[in-house]
Amino acid sequence: NSLSRCNRILRNMEASLTARDRVGIQDFVLLDAYTSESAFLDNLRKRFHENLIYTYIGTLLVSVNPYKDLDIYSKKQMDTYMGVNFFELPPHIYALADNVFRTMQSEFNNHFILISGESGSGKTEASKKILQFYAVSCPSTKLLNNVRDRLLLSNPVLEAFGNAKTLRNDNSSRFGKYMDIQFDHQGGAVGGHILSYLLEKSRVVHQNHGERNFHIFYQLVEGGEEDLLRWLGLERNCKHYSYLVQGDCAKVSSINDKSDWKTVRKALSVIEFSESDIEHLFGIIASVLHMGNIKFDTDSRGYAALSNNQEMHWLLGIPNQVLQHGLTHRKIEAKTEEVFSPFSVDHAVFARDALAKAIYGRTFNWLVSKINESLANKDSSRKTVIGLLDIYGFEVFSVNSFEQFCINYCNEKLQQLFIQLTLKSEQEEYEVEGIEWEPVPYFNNKIICDLVEEKFRGIISLLDEECLRPGEATDLTFLEKMEEKMGGHPHFVTHKLADQKTRKTLERGDFRLLHYAGEVTYCVVGFLDKNNDLLYRYGKEVMRQSKNAIIRHCFPYSEPDTKKRPETVVTQFKNSLLGLAEILMSKEPWYVRCIKPNEAKQPAHFDDVLVRHQMKYLGLMEHLRVRRAGFAYRRKYDIFLQRWYKPLCPDTWPNWKGTAAEGVQRLVKHLGYKSDEYKMGRTKIFIRHPRTLFATEDSLQV
Ligand code: ATP
Ligand code: MG
Repeated sequence: NSLSRCNRILRNMEASLTARDRVGIQDFVLLDAYTSESAFLDNLRKRFHENLIYTYIGTLLVSVNPYKDLDIYSKKQMDTYMGVNFFELPPHIYALADNVFRTMQSEFNNHFILISGESGSGKTEASKKILQFYAVSCPSTKLLNNVRDRLLLSNPVLEAFGNAKTLRNDNSSRFGKYMDIQFDHQGGAVGGHILSYLLEKSRVVHQNHGERNFHIFYQLVEGGEEDLLRWLGLERNCKHYSYLVQGDCAKVSSINDKSDWKTVRKALSVIEFSESDIEHLFGIIASVLHMGNIKFDTDSRGYAALSNNQEMHWLLGIPNQVLQHGLTHRKIEAKTEEVFSPFSVDHAVFARDALAKAIYGRTFNWLVSKINESLANKDSSRKTVIGLLDIYGFEVFSVNSFEQFCINYCNEKLQQLFIQLTLKSEQEEYEVEGIEWEPVPYFNNKIICDLVEEKFRGIISLLDEECLRPGEATDLTFLEKMEEKMGGHPHFVTHKLADQKTRKTLERGDFRLLHYAGEVTYCVVGFLDKNNDLLYRYGKEVMRQSKNAIIRHCFPYSEPDTKKRPETVVTQFKNSLLGLAEILMSKEPWYVRCIKPNEAKQPAHFDDVLVRHQMKYLGLMEHLRVRRAGFAYRRKYDIFLQRWYKPLCPDTWPNWKGTAAEGVQRLVKHLGYKSDEYKMGRTKIFIRHPRTLFATEDSLQV
């Protein structure tokens, strides 16, 4: 009941205050001293060393990666957090998940949880914890359990095909993932839908030192059953495959490919992959490995000839002659007849890799759509959703290429969305509503987003322009164009300009962007090729002859012809991000900000400089300042009055004839809100602390 609930909130606050010296405070909003950056950092560090990795800024959850298993994700913990008000218990990802769920249930609207932070900070883990919480806490029936299992098991499958070891993270997401979980009126999880964003396909054919290809290749080679490997013509030795050895780290101590293989295999059957789907799927994975081992010799005329071909042709179900011809020739447009032009060896290697990337990338998309089929809810009644966004985090390597450019641009966009939805909109709302307000200054990264994506003038436009000049343009002409057009931009530096702007030298062929999260130097080599993502038409035609059902699905006859120029990779990506922003803007946002405590992936090591840097660029201090000065909760007068609180006041119940604003005024007076606890805006009531509201909610339940 409400008394015991209030007591619990008080007890939790008291407990946290008494233990404060040791464990810090749970919510930065609550205490005055925590507005300085050092105090903020001290608090995070103190809590981290006590294994208290979660801290609130109001309803925003800050999470510091512990790099060790903590005993805080048990079923018992989930039960503890279920149906409990946000501030009653110590901060937890379950508390956030529960709060989102209950808000969705009571207001019957859509929500999303934006999980952000740099590579290795714990985003994917956080999203899994949230999903697990819903899987356990939502009402269950036999049918719903089915959906639940598929939702849960889609994770290991997508991770196997879309995650890889990088220098930053042993299980780094190499694609962006937005997942809607659909709930019915009773709160049962009835379905889901996944959108995936730009998979880093280049990894299929090339890995930097210390990095791996996608997990699935190693899982298959290490864990695949004897019969299966024999059938696929694979050796049980990763060293055998040139697509797996470039990073020189096939074995990783934190990864158990063998047992992961078992999990994936099981998951595939639960998600309704038929035996023939599975056969075709692994046929493709194996054929990519075989493909990497194809070598080309120079024939007597100086053209490429296949020196070995192995099992690839029958795995793909394509006649050997056809495949060989396809790998060494391209088709040239001629009026009446088909003319084939043979490749040089270099060209053939390029075309082979392009085909391997295309096969893998398209198979990944097929996988996502197959999972979506199995998660689809056929019932058309209205549902509400909670969206989970888990995308590759900001990353910096010693050499950064087109992929990092796309990933970091994406993070720049998400930061912009965060700013728009929190700092900017919050402050604008106070102004519009006529609430007295001292503006909080913040860094708006729109200037960097514009630098990258502005029409006709941004980096993406210049890159696309260069991609339209085949034969003439090169990576270097692209660089020159950027130098010419954006030389004066405060966030752009190249070789020529480096000394004046940052005093740091820059190699020729590099350009540097001053991202919101830090400086990144990009090597321009490969930008044009990767953006064009050229796949020879003949290669596609050859794939269409495949007997492998997935390949046939991935290379359909109806594909738009090359006569019309396909969108470049970066433009497609930009458009998909615009689409994502639209999806998110229509929902109510919640945030998890993940922090990486050290670069060494070590437990119990808290690097002050590193954490302080992340606090800064994640905008945590600004967020805290806005939160502290502002109001945690606001609702339109009529909604506030109608939905819950009208029955609480004899004046406004059962029929209120005056305006909603007057009704709310009467109501809060009746409830005894103190004048500093709330403000009346033009159209909304603003309530400073959620606690005030909880007390009101509790009176409603009595
Ligand atoms: P990327 O952007 O590269 O995908 P990420 O933010 O998704 O990175 P995760 O893969 O979630 O990072 O986390 C990296 C690793 O950190 C995990 O594999 C796990 O070992 C550890 N880790 C993260 N969060 C937790 C947690 N809550 N408890 C224990 N370990 C964790
Ligand atoms: Mg991840």
